[in-house]
Amino acid sequence: MGKLLIIGCGGVASVAIHKCCQNSEVFDDICIASRTKAKCDAIKEKLEGTTKTKLSTAQVDAGNTEALIALINSYQPEAVLNLALPYQDLTIMDACLATKTHYIDTANYEPEDTAKFEYSWQWAYRDRFEQAGVTALLGSGFDPGVTGVFSAYALKHYFDEINYIDILDCNAGDHGYPFATNFNPEINIREVSAKGSYWENGGWVETEPMEIKRVYNFPKVGSKDMYLLHHEELESLALNIPGIRRIRFFMTFGQSYLTHLKCLENVGMTSIEPILYEGREIVPLQFLKAVLPDPSSLGPRTKGKTNIGCIFIGKKDGQEKKLYIYNVCDHEECYREVGSQAVAYTTGVPAMIGAMMVLTGKWNKPGVHNIEEFDPDPFMDALNQWGLPWEITDTPELVD
Ligand code: NDP
Repeated sequence: MGKLLIIGCGGVASVAIHKCCQNSEVFDDICIASRTKAKCDAIKEKLEGTTKTKLSTAQVDAGNTEALIALINSYQPEAVLNLALPYQDLTIMDACLATKTHYIDTANYEPEDTAKFEYSWQWAYRDRFEQAGVTALLGSGFDPGVTGVFSAYALKHYFDEINYIDILDCNAGDHGYPFATNFNPEINIREVSAKGSYWENGGWVETEPMEIKRVYNFPKVGSKDMYLLHHEELESLALNIPGIRRIRFFMTFGQSYLTHLKCLENVGMTSIEPILYEGREIVPLQFLKAVLPDPSSLGPRTKGKTNIGCIFIGKKDGQEKKLYIYNVCDHEECYREVGSQAVAYTTGVPAMIGAMMVLTGKWNKPGVHNIEEFDPDPFMDALNQWGLPWEITDTPELVD
């Protein structure tokens, strides 16, 4: 049915490519293009013969708009799924605009030299995408992504207004290393070492990194420490969910991870300021990435589950109402199915589903849109079908 260009060939892309190949009726032709073509060739070789999807590969520098335009013009996809790094969002959006090609990503733009992520840069493309008649779907991973779809679904079917949302991201997986990150270490450490913040009564409340801690008893996982972080979907949900008074985001971290992170911070290893080392400029955080385990190597070692979901409090027919929608995913089952751990799986599956929504025309809204702006129903059905079944309860434990 459709042709998709996938940019990037890391942990998340590997899962999305496996899932596209399971879904050949929608994705009958995909091209995998990344900085290191050998990685694209390796996954093509692994999957060819197991799928009806036609696979091709290419080398591309996703930071170079002209190179991207040339690739899009020669391959002629209907949509581009950006699974490279947040630094490349704008160059890929520029190329999509120039070629009138739909765009999907999983993380908002972040300048490489400033650890700051926000939607303003991508929202600035709204009019141009609308005029070009192409859709940009922002944040089609799990968080952002499924958390926005859960919010739109809760609003559509269960609430007249939602006043409070707590997004809870629990990874109870154990990979056996004292310290490793479950997705790109550079992006992950930039995110968790930044100041925290939450949205309340129309404004942002800022906290010190990891200042707010809660303990939560996650269904099917158990009791875990979780910490308040800033997270990108807070920004779009604050605008798109009417009646909202407060949105917070919590992520679980084990004590070993936090102790290592503090130590690395204290010695300057998480800094993004370049330093001179033996006459050469290096960025400490990029050097740290090079010595840490590659997240895509964690798959065979990781045991345990993730539980990610949203607690909603609001009103229906004048009565206060609570709801918790969540997904539980098992690291070992993910590895058996696609050769990756659950953090890559819970991002790669929604990335495939977002691309499917756009390619099939179920979601066709020229302009630049966050995921909660679309009809959540077909996406929720697809989550059940493609490996991320969700559960719903109206008696959740609340977070104080
Ligand atoms: P990886 O580092 O594993 O993969 C990134 C890929 O992008 C690599 O293949 C890399 O190439 C490629 N790449 C980097 N720079 C360029 C460039 N200039 N040109 C072409 N290709 C490039 O990252 P992940 O798979 O862990 O993460 C992918 C994305 O998913 C990130 O944006 C991350 O923030 C996002 N994410 C979103 C989540 C969500 O729930 N919404 C959760 C987790 C991640 P090479 O192989 O040569 O290094």
